[in-house]
Amino acid sequence: MIEQTTQDIQWFQFHLFKDIPNLSHGVFSRIGGASSAPYHTLNTASSIGENLEAVTENRRRVQQILQCKDPLTTIKSEHAKHAYEVTHENRYKTVCPTPQEISFGDILLTVTPGAGLFWSVADCAPIFFYDPAHHALALTHAGWRGTAKGAAIATITEMRSRYSSNINELLVGIGPCIGACCYEVGENVRQEFQRDKLLFETASFTEHFVTDPAGNSHTSLRFDVAQTNKNQLLAMGIPEDHIELSGMCTGCRTDLFYSYRVEKGKTGRFAAAAALRA
Ligand SMILES: [Zn+2]
Repeated sequence: MIEQTTQDIQWFQFHLFKDIPNLSHGVFSRIGGASSAPYHTLNTASSIGENLEAVTENRRRVQQILQCKDPLTTIKSEHAKHAYEVTHENRYKTVCPTPQEISFGDILLTVTPGAGLFWSVADCAPIFFYDPAHHALALTHAGWRGTAKGAAIATITEMRSRYSSNINELLVGIGPCIGACCYEVGENVRQEFQRDKLLFETASFTEHFVTDPAGNSHTSLRFDVAQTNKNQLLAMGIPEDHIELSGMCTGCRTDLFYSYRVEKGKTGRFAAAAALRA
């Protein structure tokens, strides 16, 4: 990804998406926002106990950097693979709507000029999809649960059926998420993938023999969210040179991003956002 700094905000763009006309996008670090500890400082999640004034201000800053006239739309994640199409009618009219006004799902899609999509994440992968032929955009939220349900595969299926997207034309960017270096998981995670042949074959698990400071050894099962999603995309036929990984682990880089796992839940969520310019 390419690092950018605007005012005090540090943010990142995919090489693949950077020069596409009428598309703005960015993955925002935690640096340059209005929130205080433990949400310091560019937290964009409104449902984790942070005061709404700071969240509103942070979302405004993200919206401004992406040069969007209107508020960006997000929904409540279900850790599954339900799609929610953002249209002129249902997109956010205010920066922080009331909880009752917010829908559920894990795949945001749009072809509406002026519509902006975003997720607030801390370890889960934000996955950007763009179809240049139909000027169609999707932004998917995939942690281990969504990945085990094939959220990236479901996004491709939705874009094909709704927008007639061709697999070999789609461009995909997988944003910063927790890496295998920091992500020990239980056997239950591997078992979830065993429900489906393709999902199990594309899942990236590794076993590490580790000794803790007290001298106790155990086998540590690690899961690679970004690599597994990349494998799913390749299995669907997306060309390898149409997929870009951020190469950044949220757990290793709590200076730059929020990590729910490493910061033991007491942290904010950073924004991954994209918009079709009007
Ligand atoms: Zn790491």
